[in-house]
Amino acid sequence: MGIAVMTKSPTVVAGLILVTGFLLGTCQSHPLTGQTPTSAQGLFTFVFDDGFETDFSIVRPIFMERGLRAGIAIITGWVGRPGVDTVDEIRQLRDDGFEIMSHTVTHPHLPRLTDEQIEYELAKSQADLASWGVPVDSLVYPYNQNNQKVRAIAAKHYRYARAGQRQLNYDLSNPYSLFSHPFERDLGRQEDLVDQAAKQNAWIFFYHHRMEASIRFDDKQGQFLEGEPIRFEKSGLKGQFFDNGPVFFGRSVVYGPMTDGNPIQGEKVIGLKSGASCLVRDVEFNDRDRLEQLLDYVRRQWPNMKMVLPKDGFRLMADRPTHAASVPNSDQPE
Ligand SMILES: [Zn+2]
Repeated sequence: MGIAVMTKSPTVVAGLILVTGFLLGTCQSHPLTGQTPTSAQGLFTFVFDDGFETDFSIVRPIFMERGLRAGIAIITGWVGRPGVDTVDEIRQLRDDGFEIMSHTVTHPHLPRLTDEQIEYELAKSQADLASWGVPVDSLVYPYNQNNQKVRAIAAKHYRYARAGQRQLNYDLSNPYSLFSHPFERDLGRQEDLVDQAAKQNAWIFFYHHRMEASIRFDDKQGQFLEGEPIRFEKSGLKGQFFDNGPVFFGRSVVYGPMTDGNPIQGEKVIGLKSGASCLVRDVEFNDRDRLEQLLDYVRRQWPNMKMVLPKDGFRLMADRPTHAASVPNSDQPE
């Protein structure tokens, strides 16, 4: 089908070649407007999916201290569960300038559903948020999954929707399949993506979920309970215990970092309900540090890059000409 279209339309062929060159980094100016690298600055957006309460406790201060805001994608059927943003927290985030987005009612694989079920997931979540006094007009697909049917229903209710596909956005040819990148452990890789977006004057969209940190530990006594509050004896840090799935060598624990800072090597960690304890060997990763480092990197390295909400990125991108060449197909989950 692609070839048939191409043979009929030389402009599409030209567009494909230009876009391909652009994606490969061989084309330093915008294919249609001829913008030069000196005017290039790019757009940077961050969205936190699933509505975990670390949006409020950790993400909110990190962004606000820097005069920044992020998108917050809420699964309305999860609101009220432990560890999830409450309605009051969602309203406060909205009042503070964060962009609240819908992330459906139950977080299903949308392409597997019937039209009626998709309609329910997309319309009901929007209605739930509106009933809490938080009207929304943007959507994040669960697992980033969508297809033509899902996008068509999304277009009935929303102005734009975010998918995945680990690509940058160069225009708004697919407002119901905005590309995004997961925020991964390797900070250098995230910085490379920012560099690429800045140099190509593209829009980079990162997403993440619950803010976590992980320590490796020794001398565990007793069993920690999932979700229980934990206290670090010397540093005074507080956290929440989450098992890291299959525990590597029995020595890894993930905790939601509820207070600022890193644990001290050798200090004792105590489960406040179970009474279980362990000793900190080292910090495996800390989302808070990585997020702060990335935001500060953007400011330092690319001072002209605009760090914006999804809706502002959408507005700024709307001025750019679109290409017919990029056709999204993100049925596969990430
Ligand atoms: Zn999700």
